[in-house]
Amino acid sequence: MLDVIVVGAGFSGLQAAYSAKKAGLSVAVVEARDRVGGKIWSAPLASGRGFAELGGAWINDSLQPRVWSYVQQFGLKVVKQRLKGTAIMQESETDRFEFPFGVTPEFTPEEKKNLEMIRDHFQAESLKTGLPSTEIDNMTLDQHVRALGALPKIAKMVNMWSQVMHGLESTEESAAWFIDYCRRNKGFLAIRADNSTGGQYLRFQDGAQSVAHEIAKLVGIENIHLASPVHLIKDHGSHTVVVTRNHEVFQAKKCILSVPSTMYKEFDISPPLPPDVQEVTNGTVLGDYNKLIVCYDTPWWRDEGFNGYFASYAGPITLGRDTSVDEKSHYSLTCFVNGLPGREWSKLPSHERRAAGLKQLSKVFKNNPEVFRPIEVFEQIWQHEEFSRGALAPVHSLGHLTKFASIYGRPVGNLHFVGTEYSTEWKGYMEGALCSGEHGAQQVVKALRSVPVKL
Ligand SMILES: Cc1cc2nc3c(=O)[nH]c(=O)nc-3n(C[C@H](O)[C@H](O)[C@H](O)COP(=O)(O)OP(=O)(O)OC[C@H]3O[C@@H](n4cnc5c(N)ncnc54)[C@H](O)[C@@H]3O)c2cc1C
Repeated sequence: MLDVIVVGAGFSGLQAAYSAKKAGLSVAVVEARDRVGGKIWSAPLASGRGFAELGGAWINDSLQPRVWSYVQQFGLKVVKQRLKGTAIMQESETDRFEFPFGVTPEFTPEEKKNLEMIRDHFQAESLKTGLPSTEIDNMTLDQHVRALGALPKIAKMVNMWSQVMHGLESTEESAAWFIDYCRRNKGFLAIRADNSTGGQYLRFQDGAQSVAHEIAKLVGIENIHLASPVHLIKDHGSHTVVVTRNHEVFQAKKCILSVPSTMYKEFDISPPLPPDVQEVTNGTVLGDYNKLIVCYDTPWWRDEGFNGYFASYAGPITLGRDTSVDEKSHYSLTCFVNGLPGREWSKLPSHERRAAGLKQLSKVFKNNPEVFRPIEVFEQIWQHEEFSRGALAPVHSLGHLTKFASIYGRPVGNLHFVGTEYSTEWKGYMEGALCSGEHGAQQVVKALRSVPVKL
């Protein structure tokens, strides 16, 4: 019998398997998809000119030690996020303005002061430790900022933060969840930053998924079972049994489940998870966190002085970035189509989604005809993915973060849980997934070593 079965070969599952293997345990990884990486998926361009990052893309070399040490170990090439140039804000169907990247966009002095007050509040809150209060866990982020005195325009901007950070509206997540997320991720400003201290600093020249491929080699390709969706997990007390839809059966002393907690209800787990674990995990939601990636021969927006960054209230796209890697492959604009606008957009047929995205880009970039001359277009709707059901990370129902803090993510019998959502640092990121995987494996190793030896 194996020591441990890991369900899922995303970053957290692969890391859990590799850490367990390094500790001397025998492992099997059972993955539903026919690839490793989970929400990290680097799709090759049909023309062979590089990759489009359909999921996670950015990393950091100073504050994300795990992912950065893999970059070095595997000799992967990274590029810095290009920031040079002017940014754009699209306020409505007809109004757009340009502003120097990195400064607060055109607001009245009163609005600017108000925005700074809200921003400073979140930064100060996010540098504290421990859990936020139950009171603000029972309040939505929107209610919280309005109670703090946010002006309507600033409350609208906070909604945009929630859309681009979590794929949800600010009326759909608790203020405490938002603050806790910032606390685990080095503070609100780090999450929003594009420099070496922030979440959007470096990208992979050959795709972030190369990290997953390399960790898979360390786990041992022979130990990874792809295209094997698990549907049943049975804890017999002495050992666990995992059965896939293709009727493969795996047995091990321990099982590590690395899928997002929102999806636990899709498994036949016996004995059933305790009622409080079911209540908290069934209550989590995954956001609408979609990408439209438009690839070009030339970086025409740079010729106009733009850096490719834009934010918008006036179309399906909420945020855009220049995600070109090098002149040898292609140039690209990656558009995040998130939150409620993303939800509506994802219901359209594919050709209408692309048309809506390109039309919006045309407005943002002053009707530049180059917008309509892409070489390739990718769209990725994570809610449509059977084995993801949305992104970034599961978000608790109002009040559940504090109510269930003592049991959320804790092992149940021989079943252990990992995933970026459980990480104490960089929750929602690749680094968080690695951190949680490492931690989950440590738990299993400790539990197996503490089993009394029968004499
Ligand atoms: C659009 C987008 C942009 C992002 N941007 C960034 C970024 O710039 N930087 C960053 O660090 N992070 C980013 N992220 C987040 C990052 O991708 C995730 O935090 C991380 O990949 C999560 O890893 P995980 O192992 O926790 O979960 P997952 O990657 O979801 O892994 C779960 C695995 O379980 C598998 N699975 C599901 N069901 C079953 C089943 N029944 N049987 C077997 N296997 C199953 C899945 O196929 C998957 O492989 C982004 C994510 C998205 C979607």
